Formats: sequence, C-alpha cells, structure tokens
Amino acid sequence: MAKTAFKAESKRLLEIMINSIYSHKEVFLRELMSNASDAIDKIYYQALTDDSLTFNRDDYYIKVIPDKENRTLQISDTGIGMTKDEMEDNLGVIAKSGSLAFKNETELEDGHDIIGQFGVGFYSSFMVADQVTVISKALGSDEAYKWESEGTDGYSIEPYEKESVGTDIILKIKDNGEEVSYDDFLDEQGLKTIIKKYSDFIRYPIRMDVTVQQPKEQEDEEEEVEYEEYQEEQTVNSMVPIWRKNKNELTDEDYENFYAEKRYGFDKPLKHIHINVDGSIRYDAILFIPESAPPDYYTADFEKGLELYSNGVLIMNKSADLLPDYFGFVKGMVDSEDLSLNISREMLQHDRQLKTIAKNIKNKIKSNLKTMQKNDREAYEKFFNAFGRQLKFGVYNDFGMNKEDLQDLLMFYSSTEKKLVTLDDYVSRMPEDQTYIYYAAGETIDKIDKLPQTELVADKGYEILYFTEEVDEFAIMMLMNYQEKEFKSVSSGDLDIEDEDDNTEAEEENKEVFAAMKEAISDKVKDVKASKRLKSHPVCLTSGGEVSIEMEKTLRNMPT
Ligand code: ADP
Ligand code: MG
Repeated sequence: MAKTAFKAESKRLLEIMINSIYSHKEVFLRELMSNASDAIDKIYYQALTDDSLTFNRDDYYIKVIPDKENRTLQISDTGIGMTKDEMEDNLGVIAKSGSLAFKNETELEDGHDIIGQFGVGFYSSFMVADQVTVISKALGSDEAYKWESEGTDGYSIEPYEKESVGTDIILKIKDNGEEVSYDDFLDEQGLKTIIKKYSDFIRYPIRMDVTVQQPKEQEDEEEEVEYEEYQEEQTVNSMVPIWRKNKNELTDEDYENFYAEKRYGFDKPLKHIHINVDGSIRYDAILFIPESAPPDYYTADFEKGLELYSNGVLIMNKSADLLPDYFGFVKGMVDSEDLSLNISREMLQHDRQLKTIAKNIKNKIKSNLKTMQKNDREAYEKFFNAFGRQLKFGVYNDFGMNKEDLQDLLMFYSSTEKKLVTLDDYVSRMPEDQTYIYYAAGETIDKIDKLPQTELVADKGYEILYFTEEVDEFAIMMLMNYQEKEFKSVSSGDLDIEDEDDNTEAEEENKEVFAAMKEAISDKVKDVKASKRLKSHPVCLTSGGEVSIEMEKTLRNMPT
C-alpha cells in the first residue's frame, strides 16, 4: 500500500509526539474522547434538525475496548464518521495549524508545553501507540475507509468494510520502556481512572466491558469462598456535564481540566466563573478569564465568542453576540434550555433571551474582575498586563459609551507608588488642594521620569499617572473625568499649579534671545517663552491645545 507523506508541520508534530517524554501521556484518551463526543454531537444535531433521520438516544455512545494480549486499545463511536476526503483533510494535517508556529525551538524540544497546554488532538495518540488505525463510515455514505499510520513515514487510506456509521480508532499500544509503563492504557481499572479524571462530563455514555468478580454459590458454608468472573458492560462516566454540576462539588482542577479539554487556551485560566440561573430564563455558563493573551489576540485574526449549547447540544462554536468586544478575551460556554435548536445565526442576533443572557454575563464578568481587583491584586495585575489594553480600547471605542462598565477596571503606573494603580486609588489619595488627575505620556516609564514637565508636578507632591501606551490618552479623552476630577496632562499649557506672579520680567530681559530662537526653529514651535515650570532642566516643550505632544505624534502616525 502506497503511503502519502505528511505535510512538514504535521510531521514535526508527530516527531514530537513519538519522542515525547511528557509525563501525562494519558491525555491522548481525553483527546480521543473529545473527538468522539464532537462527532456524536454532529450527528445528534443533524437528527434533531432533520426529520428524515431518526435516532434514539441509546444509539449514541462511545465504546472502549482494551485487548491486553494483542496490546491494542480500540475506541469506537457512533458519531458522524469521516469520508475519505475528510480523513485526508483532518487526519493528515495538524488541525490547529499555526499552534506550533507560536512556540520556539526549545519549547518544541520535549513537547511538554505543547502537549500540556494545547492538547494536540488526534496526534497525541502517537505518544502511546506505534501504529494508529482509523476505520470510519460517514453519515450518508455507502463506503467505509481505513486510514493507517505508523508515524512519520506517512499514512495510507484504503477502502474497508464497516457496517454502521461512525468511527473506530485502534491503537497499537507501545511496549513498555525502561522507565515508562504503558500497561495502564490496556487495563480496565487504569482506563476507568483516566476516563473519570478527564472525560467524566462527556454527555454520551463511555462504555467498557469490565470484569466483575462474584462469589460462587456454595453448598458447604465452611468451605473457603470461591469467586467466578464474568464480563459486564458498564458506563464509566457520570455524563453530567460539568456546567450542570453543583459548584460545591467541583474543584479548581475540574475546571482546569475542562478548560484544557475544550482547548479554550494554552494557559491555565486565571479565574473561572460558574453561573447557574434558574429564573425566567434558565441557563448555565462556565466562563474563564485566561492568564495570558493568545498570540493572535491583538490581531484581526482573533475571533471572540462563547460556545453556545441548546439544552446540552452544541449549536455554535463561537457565539460572538454573547460577549462585548472589550470582554472578548473571555472563554467558555453557555447552555440554555430556552434556545431553539433550529435558530439561525441571524435570528440569534435579535433573540431577546440571548440578549438578556449576554447582559447578565457582561455584568458577571465585570463584578468578578472587580472582586479580583479588590481581593487579589496580584492576579488582577496579571490579568491587566494581558488584557488591559483591550479594556482601554473598550473605553475609547463606542465613544465612551461603556465607560461606566470599564473605568473602574483600568490601571495605570503611578509616579509615587511605582506600580499599577486604579483611578479610584488615585483619587482617594488626592490632597485637598489638587484639582486634576495628572498624567504624563511617553514611551517608557524611564523616559517619562526624565521629562522636565513631570518634575514640576511631582515636586508639588502630586501623584502622576504614566501613560506608556498609545491608547491611554485616547481612552482618557473619552472618559474626560473620573469621580468628577478632570484629567490633565503635565505638558498642557495651564497646569493650575504655576505661581501666580507672571513671567514678564524674564520675558523682557530675554526678549532678543527668545526672538532669535523662535526665528531659528519657527517651523517647529509656535512660540518661545520663559517658564517657571523648570527645575533642573533648561528647557521643555509644552503643547498649546487639548492634545498632548505624545498624542500629536500618534495622530500623525495614524494611517489615513
Ligand atoms: P480538533 O478536534 O481540535 O479539530 P483533532 O486533531 O482532535 O483536532 O481532530 C481533527 C479532526 O479530525 C476533527 O476536527 C474531526 O474533523 C476529525 N475527527 C477526529 N476524530 C474523529 C471521530 N472520532 N469522528 C469523526 N471525525 C473525527
Ligand atoms: Mg479534538
């Protein structure tokens, strides 16, 4: 059978899998269960929305069949299956292409990071198997196919016999090495433990024939008890989706496993928010605040959205309507009994229930972030370093319409505290004679420290907020004020702290020098004046109008 070569990136990933020394190889099972469940979701959804298909709930299951003697592990599902083309497209290439590109070579070396954080889908089977066979029959097709690969030297696809629609995956489990034992993946108890740990909430039954021991009936009571063994099919998982469970029964680890299983992110979540609402609209939701921004976050490629379920059935992967742009970093899912399965994307946009859910979710996120800010500043700073820029854009976009939601969440570097502070922190510390919230804009904290304009305000004992991101000033411009205190740039013309007496004397004395200076740089400045703001610096630039020098620079650099 001729083999087709894997594409370069897939081959690289396979090499990583095959040689991986990753200690939690068991996650391959989580990945295969998740794929099987996705495949059943797809067929289940079709059956619900297509009258020509009739299925019973009992028809949907995953079966795990270990065979110790032949060292094979088979995982079968009654899902939607794959056509020959789909096998080619989905199994021959890395699904999350690009995910490797985000990692540098050292991270790639032992594969630890990629496997632990990304999960890597189907290919993770190669961590534990030296041959992988996929036999599949797609819904609506008369033909079945067999895909097979022993690793990096490529794969083959050939026609095969299979009665029912669905997919069988057969792993030839590796022999035990010196330090690793793969026997757990062939052992009923071992498999049960792994399934419980990672896939308990899969909503279809994961079945396995389990050996049960039972005392034999005895005639003589005195004799030693003898046992007989027989096989019994058991459902290993509890099937209750995690979002339907009681918060009190769940641990942080459960949520983290769910986050990884769902591939919400490559990191560990900073915080989870579990919502169960049983009011006029009923829904359950699990939301995550990631710890770090995904590599494409601040690019046009990034798509926000939550998974949307209707009574347990996934109807949309990324429902963008559930999140405002400024909370676009939030990951997670919403399940509501009150949403129709047949609802289209367009209808969803106008759906009143969904709008209400979205509003609730927004408020929940906001209040959770505020609580984090108050009770766990360290975590909040981590969050803000990753997503603060998004919040500032949020204030700036929509012309400040969202400022009520966002202004309390903002943080800026403070000249006196030498760390990030909130606007509320700042205002609560303001001395009585201080009218404005002062800020200074520049490229870095160091550079702002050295600005002559900063000096005068700092000398007065006033705290200054340092704006090092371009968006900062734009956001503040939209806020205009905070708790009725106006923002004032230290380089604006009227600082409200210069001494009352004017500079006429100095102006008069140096009239000719100033005139000569002005003449020499007339294309660069509007005027040259004496100033009382300077302490240790001989000269400084101020901006005349509303717009600061930094902002002018930004405006000039903006594409038009
Ligand atoms: P992901 O699940 O993130 O898409 P995977 O590597 O886990 O990535 O799987 C790749 C693709 O292969 C899936 O998207 C799906 O189209 C297909 N696939 C894998 N397993 C199955 C299965 N059991 N039944 C049907 N399709 C499958
Ligand atoms: Mg997958």
